[in-house]
Amino acid sequence: MKVRAQIGMVLNLDKCIGCHTCSVTCKNVWTSRPGVEYAWFNNVESKPGIGYPKEWENQDKWKGGWVRKPDGSIVPRQGGKWSLLMKIFANPHLPQIDDYYEPFTFDYDHLQSAPEMQHAPTARPRSLITGQRMEKIEWGPNWEEILGGEFAKRSKDPNFDGFEAAQKAMVGEFENTFMMYLPRLCEHCLNPACVASCPSGSIYKREEDGIVLIDQDKCRGWRMCVSGCPYKKIYYNWKSGKAEKCIFCYPRIEAGQPTVCSETCVGRIRYLGVLLYDQDRIAEAASADRETDLYQAQLDIFLDPHDPRVIEQARADGIPEAWLEAARNSPVYKMAVDWKVALPLHPEYRTLPMVWYVPPLSPITSAAQAGHLGTNGEIPDVSQLRIPVKYLANLLTAGDTLPVVRALERMLAMRAYQRGKHVDGVVNTAVL
Ligand code: SF4
Ligand code: SF4
Repeated sequence: MKVRAQIGMVLNLDKCIGCHTCSVTCKNVWTSRPGVEYAWFNNVESKPGIGYPKEWENQDKWKGGWVRKPDGSIVPRQGGKWSLLMKIFANPHLPQIDDYYEPFTFDYDHLQSAPEMQHAPTARPRSLITGQRMEKIEWGPNWEEILGGEFAKRSKDPNFDGFEAAQKAMVGEFENTFMMYLPRLCEHCLNPACVASCPSGSIYKREEDGIVLIDQDKCRGWRMCVSGCPYKKIYYNWKSGKAEKCIFCYPRIEAGQPTVCSETCVGRIRYLGVLLYDQDRIAEAASADRETDLYQAQLDIFLDPHDPRVIEQARADGIPEAWLEAARNSPVYKMAVDWKVALPLHPEYRTLPMVWYVPPLSPITSAAQAGHLGTNGEIPDVSQLRIPVKYLANLLTAGDTLPVVRALERMLAMRAYQRGKHVDGVVNTAVL
């Protein structure tokens, strides 16, 4: 056993209101520079949706993450097929600017400087790439938000008309639609595909806290990491010619402060914490036979920070006392490992991601009215929730519905307990 410490994050999707404050504050701090106008180290996606960049989850298209070979070993999905030289000159798996979006600003000056006219002046969009005014914005993150799933289907049609699709989505099967928000950032994976795919050796995982960084002096701009990261969370800076990514606000972490996205989150959905894990079990966990086993295999890496044998080994492996204390008080350990209400995003990519998600209960009013929520001690019925459990399982547990059902049941039970405990400010002692 070799003990290592990893900083991680849990996001409670039940509480995300899709305000994008996290994305905007992150952008203001880290990517409000020429070269990365289009880059959002943190973005909040509307799901189900195409995402940002478009179809980032389609690894057949982008060749990200790891694949398991018949002998049980794992290799980067993009590796082996082309020579390095071929890849350098013609890496075919790079998202283009249209896959992200053409970044734009608005002509705010026009609001002040417009000549007197009959109608109020408007601030028209202007491209940050060409500097030209944009008559029509064709695409952007969260484009599908007002358009529903119909947009996702029809955007592949060359004759696609977004407005018509919106109308159809709104009047069509509106009563059966569902939507949720998925905030996304680099997963600071335990088995990062970006590190494995970099020919320059410029990407590294910090020993002390597991934050994954790109050495800007070593980066040669090959962009293999952009293809290799299955979450598409590395961005090419066209001005510097280097790759950039979320740095988990490490200068703030080192100063004992939370990341910018966590501190500014309006819904207070983000929790930061330390996990202790066994470095010797990484390869085994990442190469589990069946994809649906990957979630459990990932859980098995983590060590109980209250176990004296773990603490003794951690000290021998050089983990500082402050980190051991942080691991004992870690909300990430509680929610991800102990209570199992937080789940990893797409564990089938085999990178062992370290950003965890509490699945959303979704609108539950009708289920509550039908008495399915266990407010008086009944067993909650997750089949009454609006977002299909299978959809959440495909997102969070490689299709294994059982861990998702368990997590939702726990969340429902906690909600029922809290509501039963306090009704109109009066403590209900019957459920205590
Ligand atoms: Fe690397 Fe982050 Fe992508 Fe994981 S999510 S492969 S650490 S860039
Ligand atoms: Fe969701 Fe918080 Fe971001 Fe708002 S700031 S979109 S609530 S994660």
